[in-house]
Amino acid sequence: MEGSQMAIKTVGVVGAGQMGNGIAHVMALAGYDVLLTDISQDALDAALDTVRKNLERQVSRDKISQSDADAAMARIKTTLTLTDLGPSDLIIEAATERETVKQAIFEDLLPHLGPETILTSNTSSISITRLASRTDRPEKFMGFHFMNPVPVMQLVELIRGIATDQATFEACQEVVENLGKTAASAEDFPAFIVNRILMPMINEAVYTLYEGVGSVKSIDQSMKLGANHPMGPLELADFIGLDTCLAIMNVLHDGLADTKYRPCPLLTKYVEAGWLGRKTGRGFYDYRGDVPVPTR
Ligand code: NAD
Repeated sequence: MEGSQMAIKTVGVVGAGQMGNGIAHVMALAGYDVLLTDISQDALDAALDTVRKNLERQVSRDKISQSDADAAMARIKTTLTLTDLGPSDLIIEAATERETVKQAIFEDLLPHLGPETILTSNTSSISITRLASRTDRPEKFMGFHFMNPVPVMQLVELIRGIATDQATFEACQEVVENLGKTAASAEDFPAFIVNRILMPMINEAVYTLYEGVGSVKSIDQSMKLGANHPMGPLELADFIGLDTCLAIMNVLHDGLADTKYRPCPLLTKYVEAGWLGRKTGRGFYDYRGDVPVPTR
């Protein structure tokens, strides 16, 4: 029925990294059947391990019952075959933040999709309208942007492409409500709302370090104690992933053509070194010991 909300029961999640495992977790806990895929079996195994540990933590803190956790775990299935996700009611793409990667995923999926399948991307910055235009269903395509860590953060940004229809938006809004989270609607401009504001702040913190205004420790301490941020900007950058931060700054720089979004050369250098933050054991801090040690 036109304009009515489509009932979503099955969710396909592409990419089992930091975001993909969190998305699978919250979807399964809310009662959706989840099929999770990645190009790497190790990533799928690690994702299931992480979901299990995070569910156990929620049980130990009395946030959910043991039977809720067991039921959620049982609702998550994994596959290395992307096209197995075709029949899902909703697909959330959460693979590496690179446009060519995302585009190839959608191209491979298209011939296998059900007619009603809603396609979404968890991209932090890439144009939803452009991703949508390369599919057969721009009206059923939108941005579904979770925050990290997914089980903890309350917000989901919902981003309409220029062609996204109201029924698709409402169906996604209902999913967000079923997760017990809050949706914020953002227009499709580079990096949307949260990252449009957050990433230039992180980039400025890296410039502050690069220019020697402060050390890693003094910059993070200043923003924690001086601006009441729960995490310092460099600590937060390591948490998000420095490759993701750099990718978002490049999208802002290219998309808005303003030098104020120029990525700091020091951020580029860390990424070139493979020091991507927590996920690789080293970024602005070294995480390989018992306590994080600043690397500058
Ligand atoms: P990540 O590096 O932890 O995980 C990405 C995963 O995608 C990896 O497991 C990789 O093997 C997999 N992958 C790569 N190519 C693939 C393909 N063709 N098919 C299937 N899987 C593939 O990255 P992440 O931090 O989870 O980020 C994923 C997405 O979420 C990005 O678009 C990012 O911008 C977005 N995002 C990240 C954050 C954050 O704080 N890290 C927050 C919001 C949104």
